[in-house]
Amino acid sequence: MNAVSETPRPATPPRLWVTTILFASTALAALILVPLYGVLYGYHWSQWLAFAVYGALCGLSITAGYHRLWSHRTYEAHWSLRLFFALFGAAALQNSALVWCSGHRRHHRHVDDNERDPYSANRGFWFSHIGWMLRDYPSGQEDFDNAKDLQRDKIVMFQHNHYVPLTLAMNLGLPLLLGWLTGDIVAMLLLAGVLRIVVNHHTTFFINSLAHIWGRRPYTDENTARDNDLLAFLTFGEGYHNYHHIFQTDYRNGIRWYHWDPTKWLIRTASWLGLAHNLKTVPAMRIQRAMLTMQFKRAERKLEESSHRDSWRQLVEKEAQQFSAALAEWKELQAQRYENARERLLARWESAAIRTRVKELEYSLKMQRKRLNIMMEQFHLCPAQVA
Ligand SMILES: [Zn+2]
Ligand SMILES: [Zn+2]
Repeated sequence: MNAVSETPRPATPPRLWVTTILFASTALAALILVPLYGVLYGYHWSQWLAFAVYGALCGLSITAGYHRLWSHRTYEAHWSLRLFFALFGAAALQNSALVWCSGHRRHHRHVDDNERDPYSANRGFWFSHIGWMLRDYPSGQEDFDNAKDLQRDKIVMFQHNHYVPLTLAMNLGLPLLLGWLTGDIVAMLLLAGVLRIVVNHHTTFFINSLAHIWGRRPYTDENTARDNDLLAFLTFGEGYHNYHHIFQTDYRNGIRWYHWDPTKWLIRTASWLGLAHNLKTVPAMRIQRAMLTMQFKRAERKLEESSHRDSWRQLVEKEAQQFSAALAEWKELQAQRYENARERLLARWESAAIRTRVKELEYSLKMQRKRLNIMMEQFHLCPAQVA
């Protein structure tokens, strides 16, 4: 007998029937009943409006509440905002904030580790999208040890302890009430109930599946997370997932003003209204450092294909030295600022001078990125010709 046939196959974990039936029945109803009712009786614009508004409130409660507030603590929120997130988060039918955030923290900590990341993208599209919730996988075991802070949040615990009645009230009660008010209960249940849930579910799930498969990696290639504009559009800004995985403490996912990130806009608006504070961002210099590091990696790979490799290499190495010098100076300035602040020696003019120098370094890294980009386009030519 050969050794391979003796190796026991790992047993398939038991199916979680409630979740499986819930996902299957809502998806089937959205695919069959929703269009069928539309063809037979038609929908009123008020039902579509309820679908869009209710969908946006649930989606934003997941992104701004479950994700950026509770999972990553990227800002602090007034109790009224937290209560709102707890109610509309329950409406999104993605489990309680405590379960969701604890699992999500494990995803970040062990990203792509098939044994410990609950929705590791290395286990394929289906698994990371929805499969991980359909069976009782060991990687998906609940363990709230990483969520002690959330266990101290009364609103999080209220939602966790009363999750079933809350989610029933939000998913059945509210559409029923809206349907009764607008005169068509079934249509409202189908659009603001079923279709909304299915759209909310799968757009959120895309972040665990597609946003780890499809898109660009401008900040890091040490995990599978990608930046993807289409996904950002569909998920209230969560599609900038490559940025998010390296800088998870930033309340923004799309950092440029033109990046589609309604969650960031909501948090900023809440802070203007006094409902959110202590919004955390990552220093621009760290972002530039990550981008330039990736650019050097790409340049190295591209250099290998160049027929004028050696002459270009000298130029790239010169740029790399300049990059290291800028980072060393930045480190020095940070140490100086920290030391002076600790000893309360920092004169205001001195502090301003350090800030200005850091800004200059930031700008120099930005210019370096541009130079490297131009160089990479010209690797196929002889540098002497380009000059
Ligand atoms: Zn996250
Ligand atoms: Zn991820």
